[in-house]
Amino acid sequence: AKEEGRDQFCFYEAHLTEKAREKLFLETELRAAIKQGGLSINFQPQFDLANGRLVGSEVLARWRHPDRGMIEPTKFIAIAEESGLIVPLGEWVLREACIQAELWRRAGLGPHRIAVNVSGLQLERDDFVAAVARILAETGLPSDWLELEVTETYMMRQPEKSVRVLEGLRGLGLALALDDFGTGQSSLSYLKRLPVQTLKIDRSFITDLPFGENEVAITRAIVALGHSLRLQVLAEGVETPAQADFLRGLGCDRGQGYLYSRPVDAATFENILRKTTVY
Ligand code: C2E
Ligand code: CA
Ligand code: CA
Ligand code: CA
Repeated sequence: AKEEGRDQFCFYEAHLTEKAREKLFLETELRAAIKQGGLSINFQPQFDLANGRLVGSEVLARWRHPDRGMIEPTKFIAIAEESGLIVPLGEWVLREACIQAELWRRAGLGPHRIAVNVSGLQLERDDFVAAVARILAETGLPSDWLELEVTETYMMRQPEKSVRVLEGLRGLGLALALDDFGTGQSSLSYLKRLPVQTLKIDRSFITDLPFGENEVAITRAIVALGHSLRLQVLAEGVETPAQADFLRGLGCDRGQGYLYSRPVDAATFENILRKTTVY
């Protein structure tokens, strides 16, 4: 039994080392990809549930490794968060998204707002508001074409500071959305103080609509809460017509999910924009 114990220990150690080595490898490769143009962005359309109009898109980072192919975003975003690489990565995504949106705007495609994810680590930097202002100025994108998605978890870690940063961003004229709403634990009084315009209901609640009793109750409550605070409510992860009908019935403002479209590359998204732009 003793022998066995030692074997297991060795196995565990080797496993850990391999895991650590793999992480270090991916971190090194990710750093190079950010510098050398190895990343790209996808766009997932967002629709007004009441009239079916395209109103915006969420920008999602993609990484295709030369040998390993596409790396799962949750995987490389986690590595980027742990290593701090999320700061240059997030800035690259934001600039790239603004450049692309400005091209569409000049081509008369729109109006349409791009929603870019922002990590808590980016918001914590003292120069974040200035960095966003610079990117808007350099790319020429009007600030009302941009929405930033921030998560509840970060807000709760540094409530006072985050209110100040969000107010600085609002001062630039852009829109703010609270992402993955419902999974954190923000209090109502705090939510009232946050200068956000949109609540994004987390996909985990939408998946079980319209049959999961708890999910129905929670979604109904979030929509009511949002509207009572005069916020827009967006549901992510809408996959079925039944979910869309249910959300429309609740008065949920916007929807995003595989029912409408998966995240697509810029060229494919441009085709969607051309088809839906009203001249
Ligand atoms: P998120 O912000 O919650 O983004 C939505 C995720 O749900 C995306 O996953 C999207 O592809 C997926 N999704 C959208 N509609 C559906 C649906 O109908 N069904 C299902 N099953 N999934 C759907 P993705 O692209 O894998 O991204 C995962 C996460 O990685 C994002 O979650 C976000 O937290 C993070 N992420 C991606 N790009 C960036 C970025 O540029 N910066 C930061 N900070 N985070 C990013
Ligand atoms: Ca998001
Ligand atoms: Ca989300
Ligand atoms: Ca989510």
